[in-house]
Amino acid sequence: MSGELILVIDDSREIVKHLTEYLLPTLGHKAIAAYDGREGLELIRQEKPDLVMLDLNLPEMTGLDVLQALTQDSIETPVILMTGYGSEKSAIEAFRLGIKDYLVKPFTIDEVSDTIERALLESRLRHDKQQLLEKLGRAEGEMRRQIREMRSLFALGKSLTSLLSIEKVLDHALQGAMDLTGAERSTIWLPDNGERILQAYTKAAWDEENVVSEVHVEESRVGEVYRNGQIVRRAEFSSRGIDIQADRPARAILYMPLTVRGEVMGVFGVSNHDAPRAFSERDELLLSALSDYVAIAIDNARTYQATDQALAARMEEVKTLLGITRTITSSLDLDEVARLTIKEVHSSWNIEASSIWLVDENQKLLRLLVNVGTDPDLLSRFRLEFGQGIVGRVVETGRPLYSNDVPNNPYHYREIDEQTGFKTRSILCVPLIFREKVIGALQLLNKQDGFFDAEDVERASSIGTAVAIAVTNAQLFEEAASRQQLLAATLEYNGNPVIITDNDGRLLLLNQRAREELSLTEEAVGRPANEMLEGSPLMSMLQHPPREGRGLQRREVELHDGQFWLATIAPIPDYGHILVLQDITYLKELDTAKSNFVATVSHDLRAPLNSIIGFASALEQMGPLTEKQEEFVSRITDSAQRMTNLVTALLDLARVDSRLEQVRQSCDLEDIIRNVLTDLQGQAMTKDVALNLSVEDEPQPVLGDPTQLRQAVSNLVDNAIKYSAAGQEVKVNVSMQEDNVLVRVCDDGKGIPAQDIPHIFEKFYRGQDKASKGGTGLGLTLVRSIAEAHGGWVWVESDQNKGSTFTLQLPAGDNSNSVPEIEGADGSRA
Ligand code: ADP
Repeated sequence: MSGELILVIDDSREIVKHLTEYLLPTLGHKAIAAYDGREGLELIRQEKPDLVMLDLNLPEMTGLDVLQALTQDSIETPVILMTGYGSEKSAIEAFRLGIKDYLVKPFTIDEVSDTIERALLESRLRHDKQQLLEKLGRAEGEMRRQIREMRSLFALGKSLTSLLSIEKVLDHALQGAMDLTGAERSTIWLPDNGERILQAYTKAAWDEENVVSEVHVEESRVGEVYRNGQIVRRAEFSSRGIDIQADRPARAILYMPLTVRGEVMGVFGVSNHDAPRAFSERDELLLSALSDYVAIAIDNARTYQATDQALAARMEEVKTLLGITRTITSSLDLDEVARLTIKEVHSSWNIEASSIWLVDENQKLLRLLVNVGTDPDLLSRFRLEFGQGIVGRVVETGRPLYSNDVPNNPYHYREIDEQTGFKTRSILCVPLIFREKVIGALQLLNKQDGFFDAEDVERASSIGTAVAIAVTNAQLFEEAASRQQLLAATLEYNGNPVIITDNDGRLLLLNQRAREELSLTEEAVGRPANEMLEGSPLMSMLQHPPREGRGLQRREVELHDGQFWLATIAPIPDYGHILVLQDITYLKELDTAKSNFVATVSHDLRAPLNSIIGFASALEQMGPLTEKQEEFVSRITDSAQRMTNLVTALLDLARVDSRLEQVRQSCDLEDIIRNVLTDLQGQAMTKDVALNLSVEDEPQPVLGDPTQLRQAVSNLVDNAIKYSAAGQEVKVNVSMQEDNVLVRVCDDGKGIPAQDIPHIFEKFYRGQDKASKGGTGLGLTLVRSIAEAHGGWVWVESDQNKGSTFTLQLPAGDNSNSVPEIEGADGSRA
């Protein structure tokens, strides 16, 4: 750049002249001059030169004074100082005051030229930068405007394409077009069904909301855009304007096609009527971008509407089907199910006949359940095998089948048509499937209004599913109902009294015998058992029934005087309990008779046995016996002694069982135990077994026979010593548990094998090992009889090789009325 204005301030007219008239113009600059500092300053302020060439030595104000003044006024005009040789010092001062450069007089043209170029470079650059910045500012403004436009276009497009109603799309698009292009009116033309007429949707700056009018595809300017797909942009400011077949002519129009997937679907246009404003290329760009969105949005909305309608139709169908299904499955009566199904089938289809066939599992064939439209008497005679006819085929394969040309269908079973006189033309048959099992088939015959198709199959299959459920339910219900009747009859007339209670302890069932024996009526059903059976010995069984998985419990109970029953109670899972009574009065009587007989025989055997023992021992005193004779005598004595023991034990048992001679007095069990331990001390010492007694809770007295109780404890302790090894200990413990006295006899011996436990209380049962050999197998039987005779119970817990604990439980105080419990089914007691 050149042509800058340079001010020369120098008092030397010669230098001024040289510079301003010759040198500076030659270098392409304009020049002005001042001859002293004050004048120079004045010119700087007025003319605003691009550069000042300032002499250091000036009259009135020195060059430095001028520089000072410039600094004070913040004038940044670049200055070149001109000095004489030897004034470098002042030059340094001048640099501090902001000069750009200096020239030492006299100077050459090149020196002047270089120095001026250097000094101007900065201001030139600043000037260029300023210009650039201005340009940039303008470009940025333009860009911002474009971004704004794009943003609003994008937002408009986004909101348009998310709209699902065509009306809304049109409304937004028309408004958007006016906003973007500043048009006075905007219109969208969409073809009517026939494509001959274009429907116009318009919005205008004046009050003309959503005017709908029509134009003909062939005749109008819009129609041309629609047919050719070309954009039309025109302006006509003459008085006539452009005729656009509307209420008023336009001064400018911009029409473009709406295109989706390469096909023109309508026309989008804007127009100005009052303002003489043409549409620019930019407007065209914006409208075409918007029209892309609009086309997509209209297309989306149309698709949505179509889907929505299809969905609504499908929903309606599903609703009908649901209604049918509900009706069918609402009944538990097979005939009712059949009737409802047929009714629904005939109201859903225009058909001539229908039928339902069911699988007969036992005979492996199909029989008719119901039919409509064909002769029921004739049809029901048919039994179809699997695979026979179309129905048989459907049942065999489990897949639906339909045919609209039945006479030519290979599976068609002609005989039915021949016999019934019905002409089957078309058929739709679906299997009835429940839990993957085909239970029958539903058949629709002769569709009157067209052919059966895949949609019919789908609908019939859905109904088929419901029918299968309903039929199965009805069949199960019938089966359950008849089973229940059978069960109720069996129970009601069962010879034994039966009682069923629920989990809440209410009586649910009392059969005839139970009502008789317990003197109750039907009204007791549903009432709490403890109210109805108050005071009955059955009550304690019902109050403490066995838990699920713990087997059953049995007890002997005496309901009326001298009438004995074996009561068995068992849990009914998730329901309650069942209690069955068996009359054992006769057995009881037999048992007593037997006990009496055994007692008599045992008693009568004792005298001869005693004399055998007596005479055998007398033999030794009759003179010396040979070794052989001595051995025989000893064998006779041993055998007779064993027999005596057995007879004594049998007699004891018979006595206890017969309950004759039974004493009832208050007994202190602790005393009894102490006596037993003293008696057996010697035996224990011989075996090197320690005997220990511990007493808890101050045991209450027991009402009973002291001799029998002593016998029972003695048998338990005797066994414990017998089955312990040397150095071991037998612990006896007596304590209270609720209203019972518990006597525990505990040893560390070899224990009892699990398989023996259920039997050890039985008569004559003995273990397999040597130690058991010498016994009678009656000891524990006697303990149990004594416990029962006292209304108590005895049980054992034993671990092999760890020892056994026998527990004798006796009711404390006066409890003579309580009934003995007898063994659980597994022979033990938990
Ligand atoms: P026995 O006269 O044989 O002892 P019991 O009726 O007293 O007859 O006992 C029956 C069986 O029970 C015995 O043969 C023995 O096998 C077993 N038995 C009894 N008590 C114990 C015990 N404390 N330890 C181990 N086994 C025992």
